[in-house]
Amino acid sequence: MAGYFEEMGWTELGDGETPNQLLHLARLLRDFGMFEELGEGKRLPPPASKRIVNNLPELEIKQAEESCPVCLIEFRPSDKTKVLPCDHKFHPQCILPWLAKTNTCPFCRHELETDDEQYEEYRKAKLREKQREEDIETLHNSMFS
Ligand SMILES: [Zn+2]
Ligand SMILES: [Zn+2]
Repeated sequence: MAGYFEEMGWTELGDGETPNQLLHLARLLRDFGMFEELGEGKRLPPPASKRIVNNLPELEIKQAEESCPVCLIEFRPSDKTKVLPCDHKFHPQCILPWLAKTNTCPFCRHELETDDEQYEEYRKAKLREKQREEDIETLHNSMFS
């Protein structure tokens, strides 16, 4: 494996050093487009963080005007709903099993934090990349408009 590491410009770790494997892995996955490859639709992002799910605010419905995006049943006054950070409301029995499977809002695909370190690294890297693209675009616009 030494040759491979040298080729990639990585130094092998000495005794007692802890590899930042998760970070490496996240970079690899991103660079090779693994998450995209495995794909939305084919592979769901990991479950939402239990801490986040346990702390989702509850809201009691006052007026029935919306329906739950999962079961499409209209909320009734005094129904208790769980509110996601994107402000979408769901029956707890509809959203909790969903969030135990994946971290996205079923309505708008807003992503919640997960307990999956790999995925979090990937998500942060993706956000940084997006930010960088936006910065470049802003710079470009300020220079050429
Ligand atoms: Zn529902
Ligand atoms: Zn949403």
